[in-house]
Amino acid sequence: MFIRVQGLSKTYGKGTAATKALREVSLNLDKGEMVSITGPSGCGKTTLLHILAGIESCDSGEIWIGDAPIHEWDDAKIAKLRLAKMGFVFQSYHLVPVLTAWENAAMPLIAAGMPTGKARVRAREALSEVGLADKENSYPAQLSGGQNQRVAIARAIVARPDIIWADEPTGALDTDTAEQIIGLLEMLNRHYGTTIAVVTHDPGIASHMNRTIRMHRS
Ligand code: ADP
Ligand code: ADP
Repeated sequence: MFIRVQGLSKTYGKGTAATKALREVSLNLDKGEMVSITGPSGCGKTTLLHILAGIESCDSGEIWIGDAPIHEWDDAKIAKLRLAKMGFVFQSYHLVPVLTAWENAAMPLIAAGMPTGKARVRAREALSEVGLADKENSYPAQLSGGQNQRVAIARAIVARPDIIWADEPTGALDTDTAEQIIGLLEMLNRHYGTTIAVVTHDPGIASHMNRTIRMHRS
């Protein structure tokens, strides 16, 4: 699924407390592309990713996800598109501590109304895709950082999305584990043609991607 962003702007707060987070950002992602998004701290990378994923709204500009002009859509419609077409991976995993690996991985399907039994089968498939088939009943506290990020990736792919947004997915991991996580994202990109955008500070990780989008402070 291709993504087209035109003249995207976002300001947090009002008056003297206003912070311009994005100023007229434009970019295109081709279907099946894997790109890194880099730039200095505070330049708006997280804000951009959150707006593209429909987690946050923008002030002005256009966002096309395939044929869908999501800048014209309301929150409910965007949330539905997000559940069906997008996965999101955070630096700090954002898993629910009281849920097991399969329950965490199944969350997007349950939220979309899939019966638990079917969602469990799909969550197991996603966990085996990330190499964690034997950990389906483990809780986040029983798993390593790399394993928790794999659970988070299983949750991101469980609905078989066209797009994965990843915000510093290796920021909390050691170099070897980070390479494995990026290798996993590369595999998903190659095997399923999933479009993937990864925010990263790490030039080593950026070098794995088709292309780097560099952002500057606005
Ligand atoms: P990056 O991910 O590149 O570090 P962010 O998107 O997190 O940048 O932040 C961009 C700018 O917007 C920064 O100046 C930051 O302080 C500000 N900002 C981000 N989120 C908020 C928020 N919820 N409220 C107010 N300001 C914010
Ligand atoms: P089935 O048709 O039996 O449901 P598929 O052949 O579509 O299964 O998929 C086989 C495996 O690939 C499953 O483990 C599934 O979770 C995984 N899979 C399929 N499509 C995607 C996708 N777009 N992203 C991630 N994993 C996927």
